[in-house]
Amino acid sequence: IERTLSIIKPDATKRNLTGKINAKFEDAGLRIIAQKRIQLTKEQAGAFYAVHKERPFFDELTTFMASEPVVVQVLEGESAIAKNREVMGATNPADAAPGTVRAEFAESVGENSVHGSDAPETAAVEIAFFFSSLELV
Ligand code: ATP
Ligand code: MG
Repeated sequence: IERTLSIIKPDATKRNLTGKINAKFEDAGLRIIAQKRIQLTKEQAGAFYAVHKERPFFDELTTFMASEPVVVQVLEGESAIAKNREVMGATNPADAAPGTVRAEFAESVGENSVHGSDAPETAAVEIAFFFSSLELV
């Protein structure tokens, strides 16, 4: 059993899509074991996305992530990291497979509705970024 960090991004929270996105996770066999709505500062968004700080889209990405509240959540299941990324679809919604969250809901490569950890090491770091051990049962 594996855990991964998921974020429902501002473009999706703004359009009230949290429940529809969560239904896709649950339909895929992922269990939402922790969840909260928070407002990131631009600095916090930058700390979370520090691996991308040299990328040309870093400023746009951190401004976007701080523009509206986000829903951060921990998903649990068999191969949760890979399964979540499958449900999310490709980064660019134009390339995302039909039925994926990004194919159905994302607005652009930047405003693409969801984040998901990409490996066990990053999942552990990203979960600890938002949740204390007391919040994870
Ligand atoms: P995430 O890490 O959010 O789950 P990902 O792993 O599919 O998405 P990354 O390459 O890690 O994609 O990029 C992180 C995020 O940066 C993307 O989800 C997107 O919001 C943004 N991003 C990536 N490429 C671009 C781009 N060319 N222009 C604008 N924003 C981008
Ligand atoms: Mg990524």
